[in-house]
Amino acid sequence: MTRPYNFAPGPAALPDEVLAQAAAEMLDWHGSGMGVMEMSHRGREFGAIYHQAEADLRELLAVPANFRILFMQGGGLAENAIVPMNLSRGGVADFVVTGSWSQKSHKEAQRYCTSKLAASNAATQHTTLPDPASWQLSADAAYVHVCGNETIHGVEFQTLPDLAALGSKAPLVVDFSSNVASRPTDWSRVGLAFGGAQKNIGPAGLTIVIVRDDLLGHALPVCPSAFDYKVVADNESMFNTPPTFGIYMAGLVFQWLKRQTEGGLTGVAAMEARNIAKSTLLYDYIDGSGFYVNKVDKACRSRMNVPFFLADESLNESFLAEAKAKGLLQLKGHKSVGGMRASLYNAIPYAGVEALVSHMREFATRHG
Ligand SMILES: *Cc1c(COP(=O)(O)O)cnc(C)c1O
Repeated sequence: MTRPYNFAPGPAALPDEVLAQAAAEMLDWHGSGMGVMEMSHRGREFGAIYHQAEADLRELLAVPANFRILFMQGGGLAENAIVPMNLSRGGVADFVVTGSWSQKSHKEAQRYCTSKLAASNAATQHTTLPDPASWQLSADAAYVHVCGNETIHGVEFQTLPDLAALGSKAPLVVDFSSNVASRPTDWSRVGLAFGGAQKNIGPAGLTIVIVRDDLLGHALPVCPSAFDYKVVADNESMFNTPPTFGIYMAGLVFQWLKRQTEGGLTGVAAMEARNIAKSTLLYDYIDGSGFYVNKVDKACRSRMNVPFFLADESLNESFLAEAKAKGLLQLKGHKSVGGMRASLYNAIPYAGVEALVSHMREFATRHG
């Protein structure tokens, strides 16, 4: 069965092979007589699924031994509260606001700490990244928050900031909800990274937190035990029932990622090479088209989420309807930005972007 290409921003496309395997194992996982949803989270079967998923994620993202991998719930937005509850100690945290998601993080943290704005790209309608050398970092910040990839505005850090080089001792917190596993993560620059699974990892309901172990154990008294990173880490993410089916699905995606190859590369390195090729194909076409436009500064364009506009916005509805008829789904832009947005997560193959560009070219020829 060939399915349409799904360019949704999240929840987003999953690899066909992963969905087919989950379907095949739905009623009986590996001869256990149970589906994964029906298993005890403390049983031997789920224990095997959990430990394999954790080990595979650690290998794929090259997570150092002094970082803990936590499987939590609540999504990226809950982390906007859980991070300051665990890391701020009620003091100061710095925020680099580069779009809607980091804006929300900055606002939510105000409930738990002194949330300062270190830099913002609002003056350019979130189409640039402020140079780290210009950031106003607080001497006493408990952490500095950035959003690695702004899913709505299509702005992505091509390298994470080196806070130590900027004279800061604070750990960097990265929201990698929408670009996790699309490129390697430089853990030497990171104290904590978090992300909801539903963009690049698996189904909604699972949240991944990867945290350096010296940052555990400082939660504010108000922090719910189920969201205290030390409690979660000490209980191997099983202080309460974890999102078992989400962890299983993520584990299937990790196995799929390990099988991917691209020009001699494997795993996340292969995905990065493929994501560069996919996004370059689309951006180059847009820039040369004279009909479509992407307004983001070329130095920080997202490989994952490509917002673009038609020269004549009155054609938006027909563009979307014709795309859908050709099996190109969920291309409508976020309401706050307008226009179109193509999300090119790991599960979108190069051929999917070729099909999209072919539709765009054909449409522009007819209407240009
Ligand atoms: C989608 C997204 C979120 C929100 O995640 P929820 O799981 O809906 O809470 C946060 N940050 C980024 C960068 C996102 O893309």
